[in-house]
Amino acid sequence: MTGRGTESLKKAILNDFPRLTKEDSFKFRCSKDVPCFNQCCADVNIALTPYDVLRMKNRLAISSGDFLDRYTIIPFSSEQQFPVVLLRMNDDERKTCPFVTQEGCSIYRDRPWACRMYPIGVASPAEGTEEKFFFVMQEDVCQGHGNEKTWTVGSWIQDQGVTPYDELGEEFKEIALNEFFLKGHSLKPSHMEMLVMVLYDLDKFRRFVFESSFLERFEVEDALVKQIEDNDVELLRLGFQWLKFSLFGQQTMKIREGAAREAVKSQAGSTSP
Ligand code: SF4
Ligand code: SF4
Repeated sequence: MTGRGTESLKKAILNDFPRLTKEDSFKFRCSKDVPCFNQCCADVNIALTPYDVLRMKNRLAISSGDFLDRYTIIPFSSEQQFPVVLLRMNDDERKTCPFVTQEGCSIYRDRPWACRMYPIGVASPAEGTEEKFFFVMQEDVCQGHGNEKTWTVGSWIQDQGVTPYDELGEEFKEIALNEFFLKGHSLKPSHMEMLVMVLYDLDKFRRFVFESSFLERFEVEDALVKQIEDNDVELLRLGFQWLKFSLFGQQTMKIREGAAREAVKSQAGSTSP
């Protein structure tokens, strides 16, 4: 897993790294007996996706709010269009990951996408395009390269259980790489807060859905309402639809008839002399 990403690394990836497809192969072996075991689980920038946060907070049996407070940093600058949620490393000399133990990763079955994919990286030749290629990261610390075990990129992805992460990742990209951002627009602060809540603070979003007028305003099938009481993945999917509707004006949600009439009435009231 890397993230020691700098502009020069990005340039090198685009210009110098061999571009791989899922059919291409590479040699790599990582296990407890490698001399570098656990060395890579320190001092790394790991950007967490919404599905990473969902899996990790459920694994730890804590709320999404507690998870964000205890294990993440959300750096923010006024030029930033989209929030980035980073896994917070420990404040020790090596800046170790809070989840690494002598035995390896303590949340292995729910480790983030970036940790699963390593040493494979994914890049797009140009921002906002669907096109992508894979590449192999070779960091000095990692002695797993060139070993006897041969993988294709596709077999690695399957072996590491990346598929559900990629499925939710594709839906996430429809938000993160939306035309709205690609055209240079920025969200107002209240919309940015809403985005962070829906994507990363699912337990707060669930309270919002059930405790505000959300379900009176939007048509949501009864079966789905029942499901999202305790199914985080379906709740996240509903959140994706709501964000597309509210932030980008896409017709992904239906307003209830009564609620639509009320909205028109209050709009008429606010514009009448
Ligand atoms: S989450 Fe697990 S695999 Fe990823 S850096 Fe931390 S200990 Fe290593
Ligand atoms: S540095 Fe490479 S080989 Fe060593 S434990 Fe990490 S991923 Fe495995």
